[in-house]
Amino acid sequence: MNDTLLDRLRGCAVGAAIGDALGMPLEFNPPPPADNLIREMTGGRLPAGSFTDDTEMALALAESLLYQRPLDPDDLARRFVAWINAGPSDVGLHTSRVLRRIDAGATWEEAVEAAQRQSPNSAGNGSLMRAWPVAIAYWDDLDNLLIDSWRQSRVTHPHPDTLAASAYLNATLYHVFRGSDIKMALILASTLVKMDDELWAVVESAPAHMRDDLTNSGWVRHSLQSAIWGVMNADSFEEAIVQVVNLGNDADTAGAIAGALAGAYYGLSAIPERWREALHGEWPLGSGQIWTADDFVNLADQLATVDGSTGT
Ligand SMILES: [Mg+2]
Repeated sequence: MNDTLLDRLRGCAVGAAIGDALGMPLEFNPPPPADNLIREMTGGRLPAGSFTDDTEMALALAESLLYQRPLDPDDLARRFVAWINAGPSDVGLHTSRVLRRIDAGATWEEAVEAAQRQSPNSAGNGSLMRAWPVAIAYWDDLDNLLIDSWRQSRVTHPHPDTLAASAYLNATLYHVFRGSDIKMALILASTLVKMDDELWAVVESAPAHMRDDLTNSGWVRHSLQSAIWGVMNADSFEEAIVQVVNLGNDADTAGAIAGALAGAYYGLSAIPERWREALHGEWPLGSGQIWTADDFVNLADQLATVDGSTGT
């Protein structure tokens, strides 16, 4: 594995967590004025630099992938239930409905079907926000990258848009890791993942939007749109993430998605050091252990190599 690829794989993991943490204080708030954007790690409902459920669920997925590949959905469901039972500071409504049913004794298949029946159009961003570990694990295995992107989504989010968005993000990351620019990677990924016309229109038109047109809600289409908009209209990791999290609303999730993409494109070395130093969170939840940027670097290295050695 060459140094550039390794920098990109690490940048994806660290970037996702940093986008989540920078967006944390902006979540649920209206976007700040364009001339007064938040550019530093700031406290909100958690201390400055804290990552949230987006990253925690990604870590549960990453650990499941380290435990077994191809992904075992039963193992992933067990890890998600252990996480929710440890009392995360935040959890999406739909995700919570699914995991509570599993905890009460349903299989994940029964639980997800019941939750989806309760709100058939539910297509939240909860599986897209945590999808990036699959892209790192399968940076050299496109078939399994696509299959496990879908598989990780299905455990909580079976809507066709959520399956497609997870696979699409990871297929884009696959090409970015290999040196494509973002625009080309987005096009190449579109040939790999079947999307309905409306979802594709959201993706294709994303870069042309103005800041004020973007809703950035918890809908998977909005999160994907915000992330692509930010990364395509910026020329650095920092500017992409600042623009995306300052859309407010579901800021941390859009930040995590954009962070994975921009981190993969610009690499770990392009992520501002002051943000890396501030990043932290407890993992596993309830363990008292604190994760920092270095732990995300190690995680990326382990995910990217079957035996956990990168050869560097
Ligand atoms: Mg969150």
